Amino acid sequence: MAQQRRKRRRPQIDTRKKKVDCSFCKEGKRVDYKDITMLRKYVSERGKIRSSRVTRLCGVCQRQIAVAVKNAREMALLPYISQRKS
Ligand SMILES: [Zn+2]
Repeated sequence: MAQQRRKRRRPQIDTRKKKVDCSFCKEGKRVDYKDITMLRKYVSERGKIRSSRVTRLCGVCQRQIAVAVKNAREMALLPYISQRKS
């Protein structure tokens, strides 16, 4: 009855920090809420702000984008929600 328990190896998950290649930091651009063409890239077609996983921005710039989008919405430059049924 001396059954040896086989140790299950956990699948190795890469916990190293992923390097973000933030386009804003790289080019030294500043986030401007009036630049709608730029902001449109970070908003889904439903009008939601895209996550940093999608936008590949660093945390600082992602937060600045989120604030800029919210500002632009308040200034009626961007919609809060856009209902487009496809
Ligand atoms: Zn950045």
